[in-house]
Amino acid sequence: MAEQTVNGRGRRTRKTRYVYSFGGGKADGNASMNWLLGGKGANLAEMAGLGLPVPPGMTISTEVCTYYYANNRNYPSELAQQVQKGLARVEKIIRRRFGDAKNPLLLSVRSGARVSMPGMMDTVLNLGLNDDTVEGLIKQSGNSRFAYDCYRRFVQMYGDVVLGLKPESKTERDPFEKILEEKKVARGIELDSQLSVDDLRELVAEFKTVIHDRLHIKFPDNPQEQLWGAIGAVFGSWNNPRAITYRKIENIPDVWGTAVTVQAMVFGNLGEDCATGVAFTRDLSNGQNVLNGDFLINAQGEDVVAGIRTPQQITLQASRERAAREGRSDEERAQLYPSLEERMPESFTALQQIANTLEAHYKDAQDIEFTVQSGQLWMLQTRAGKRTAAAAMKIAVDMVHAGIVDERTAVLRVAPSQLDQLLHPTLDPNAPKERIARGLPASPGAVTGKVVFSAEDAETAAHDGQKVILVRIETSPDDINGMHAAQGILTARGGASSHAALVSRGMGKCAVVGCEALEVDYERQQFGVRGSATIVSAGDWITLEGSTGEVFRGQVPTRDPNPDTPEFKEFMGWADRFRRLRVRANADTPHDAQVARAFGAEGIGLCRTEHMFFEGDRIDAVREMILADDTAGRVRALEKILPMQRGDFVGILRAMAGLPVTIRLLDPPLHEFLPHTDEEIHDLATKLGVPVDRLRAKRNALHEANPMLGHRGCRLGITFPEIYEVQARAIMEATCDLSRDGVHVIPEIMVPLVGFKSELEMLRERIVQVCAEVAQARGFTVPFTVGTMIEVPRAAVVADTIAEAAEFFSFGTNDLTQMTLGVSRDDAGKFLPAYLTQGVFAQDPFVSLDQSGVGQLIDLAVRKGRATRVDLKIGICGEHGGDPASVEFCHRTGLDYVSCSPYRVPIARLAAAHAVLREVSVEKKIRSSRKKTTDEVLAAASV
Ligand code: ADP
Ligand code: MG
Ligand code: MG
Repeated sequence: MAEQTVNGRGRRTRKTRYVYSFGGGKADGNASMNWLLGGKGANLAEMAGLGLPVPPGMTISTEVCTYYYANNRNYPSELAQQVQKGLARVEKIIRRRFGDAKNPLLLSVRSGARVSMPGMMDTVLNLGLNDDTVEGLIKQSGNSRFAYDCYRRFVQMYGDVVLGLKPESKTERDPFEKILEEKKVARGIELDSQLSVDDLRELVAEFKTVIHDRLHIKFPDNPQEQLWGAIGAVFGSWNNPRAITYRKIENIPDVWGTAVTVQAMVFGNLGEDCATGVAFTRDLSNGQNVLNGDFLINAQGEDVVAGIRTPQQITLQASRERAAREGRSDEERAQLYPSLEERMPESFTALQQIANTLEAHYKDAQDIEFTVQSGQLWMLQTRAGKRTAAAAMKIAVDMVHAGIVDERTAVLRVAPSQLDQLLHPTLDPNAPKERIARGLPASPGAVTGKVVFSAEDAETAAHDGQKVILVRIETSPDDINGMHAAQGILTARGGASSHAALVSRGMGKCAVVGCEALEVDYERQQFGVRGSATIVSAGDWITLEGSTGEVFRGQVPTRDPNPDTPEFKEFMGWADRFRRLRVRANADTPHDAQVARAFGAEGIGLCRTEHMFFEGDRIDAVREMILADDTAGRVRALEKILPMQRGDFVGILRAMAGLPVTIRLLDPPLHEFLPHTDEEIHDLATKLGVPVDRLRAKRNALHEANPMLGHRGCRLGITFPEIYEVQARAIMEATCDLSRDGVHVIPEIMVPLVGFKSELEMLRERIVQVCAEVAQARGFTVPFTVGTMIEVPRAAVVADTIAEAAEFFSFGTNDLTQMTLGVSRDDAGKFLPAYLTQGVFAQDPFVSLDQSGVGQLIDLAVRKGRATRVDLKIGICGEHGGDPASVEFCHRTGLDYVSCSPYRVPIARLAAAHAVLREVSVEKKIRSSRKKTTDEVLAAASV
């Protein structure tokens, strides 16, 4: 943050603070400064400020990252001095000195973006070691094995992260891991912890040698050089490929940058009374209010997350549950993996208290990293834990009931897009299944797919439209693309807090982790299951059930989700209270209409009549109509279709009794209904008793160069009036029949592809005429409205005149996007992926509305339309109606409703509530913060 000061000559100069210290019971920063200090740095400061045990340190702000990239990877000139000052403060608190051969201070250098990007960027531990300081560490600790263990880890991490020694190909093993493995084989041991001091000392030398041989650089011995190397590497890691990919998936702006936290080390690898772990204040997979998590004794940092050893449980209860799953006796359990509660009762109690303090303070479930050094508990990180949708909803509802947060906050705690997960399928309980293994239930959902063993293969297969399950011994941040591409993740190692579990939950992807019985063989491309003859090879189908941790052979059928829990109802009830936008569904059948209604749809925004034309043998009558040479022939064929259409409308209107139903008249080009292959043409010719040649000639005559801009939509209605007349008749007859039976129906007849007022006027007149005839024949009138799609850009531009003939508008944003961008949706596959990966487009405009382009047309049409007709009803029925960002746009633009697929209705309802609540909170923040710029406030609000 810049502070304005006045210098001697009365000129204003800027003195910029880049470094924020914390520790020793004080902190320069706090949790609200996450945009400046990154989430990690801000929360470390907050915890230090609360007086919790946090190793002292300092955070270099994200502004330095921005500066670094804007200035050819250089730092601001003041930075070095500010870092040295921060370091001196740490040295004073810890009473050790950085680089001191007798009493060395070791540091961790940690990355931290504004929002957590787990494992995406780099961290270096044990920094400051060299052949001199390691002697000092031995003196301090009296433990040379420990000191060399740190040294070995440091050279390995620094060599990887800062110097960049990585495997060169997909099949090559990590060079350091390879050396480590060879050492263990040579010594005939299995665990890292069995390595002797001499082994470790040799490893340090061998690691340095491989770095020198492969990279031709000498490992830096100077601690200051190490420190600045690590700081540079962390800033550099902001732009490593996996971080860039992650930002793309999570929509995190590239300009935010990362902060760097430099912190005094505490040691979980100093002996049997030391440990490191991860804890969650609630169960983040199902929302239960229980402390849980994993830890490892005598271990450091990444060991728990990396899945190198399978960790132990924090609570006795969870440990016992695991034993039950694995069929072990309690003695065996206590022997093999006792809980923290049993092994270190004092640290456990302290952790429990801190967990309570943090939850009460942050008023949200926390994900905590901690280390126990010689019985003393240290906090290394806290953040709002990533959770499944089911957990998010339960936690939000529980916290309202407990009076911790209000309903507004609770509603904002569940991301609309997350609800998708709740609407995921589950396994059909009645289907036969062969369970082959069981792991930890890390992230719910039921998925089937073909087995692949590398992230790369997952991506390739998904690219070809195949469903795959990524099976790994453990996952690492490099696998992020493949995880994204896969239907589900299965790992052999790692706990509920492993990388695989964390990332899957964040992505809302089904995952089973720590499936210990799996014997994964990458080389043979297969896995076996210990204790059984099962072998599963790449390409074989398996099924995962993420909420039980079960793995099945083959494809097990799944069942539609049922989100109808009391929590879901209560939560959605709050959302509904806040929102202003109405939410409808796009549905073409009575079944879809019923599903939509169960999900809370308040009407149908788009009922496409062409789908009805394809059903059963109707297509024959439709084809007969198309092939007819004159009006009389067409009418004859249409008379056959009429009763069927009427039946469809009765079904849909009844399912939506009391709610509006927008029915769109026929839209697609006619040739879509005709047969294409020679065989089909022959069949049809025989059926209709017409010569094959005539049929072929007709098909050729209907061929169009640009069918989407051709003879379709209202143009059909103008050229073949009888088509729309019959449809209007069917709608009105259905309406009258239902009304007579006492069903309240609200039909809205919608004309597609209008660009001119004259088109709509002419068609409207005929529709009204037909409806009047029906009313007269049936003996009473039922109110109905006639409106139009706005999907041709011209219609948006002249919306004021079109509104003279329309009682409602519905934005057909699929066509409107296609025509405004001049991008054919059907052909975009050839270039859109390149546009997205190269960043030409930030988002797929067919998924999320192009607000700055198409959005302007919508805004214009809304204003012009309402200027003509104040009570004009306006909605959107394109795919975008279920996209949260587009829903927010529709709210801002003053639409009356959005309409989307039935399964997205809850998402749209919640997004509409968020739109209202966020509007309020952004306004409030702008008013209350005079110091921050609007940009900063908006950026903070969008987190
Ligand atoms: P990430 O963002 O990948 O979680 P962190 O910066 O949190 O990376 O570091 C990973 C792990 O390293 C932490 O969970 C912690 O166990 C360990 N670690 C980081 N800083 C320290 C420290 N000062 N002392 C001991 N361990 C640390
Ligand atoms: Mg890390
Ligand atoms: Mg961490």
